[in-house]
Amino acid sequence: MTSLVFCRGCAHQIHETATSCPKCGAPQVVLTKSAAATPAAALTPPIQNYAQVPWYRKRWFAGLCIFLFVPAYFLIAFTGDIYFEKNGELKTISKNEKFIVLGIFIIIVFIRAMRD
Ligand SMILES: [Zn+2]
Repeated sequence: MTSLVFCRGCAHQIHETATSCPKCGAPQVVLTKSAAATPAAALTPPIQNYAQVPWYRKRWFAGLCIFLFVPAYFLIAFTGDIYFEKNGELKTISKNEKFIVLGIFIIIVFIRAMRD
């Protein structure tokens, strides 16, 4: 029984047991027991060192998000009203709700600071 698969490099149709593409030479993942058991056959290898971490997964970027968007929220929340619609009526978030959000944020920051 033969079947064709698409090359991982050029999407050319190749035989499923081919170890490399005859057209572009890209190595192929052969789905045999021995190949599947080898860690090198994994499609996405686990991150081993900091250089392999994508930029959006790094702590400085997560920190940047917190320090950009949380101050943005408080700037908007405490210089005016935040509106929402409920049953067709225009409503605003009360001052108490704004302070609840501020309180939750302070608690989260405090817990994080205690852990590090
Ligand atoms: Zn190819």
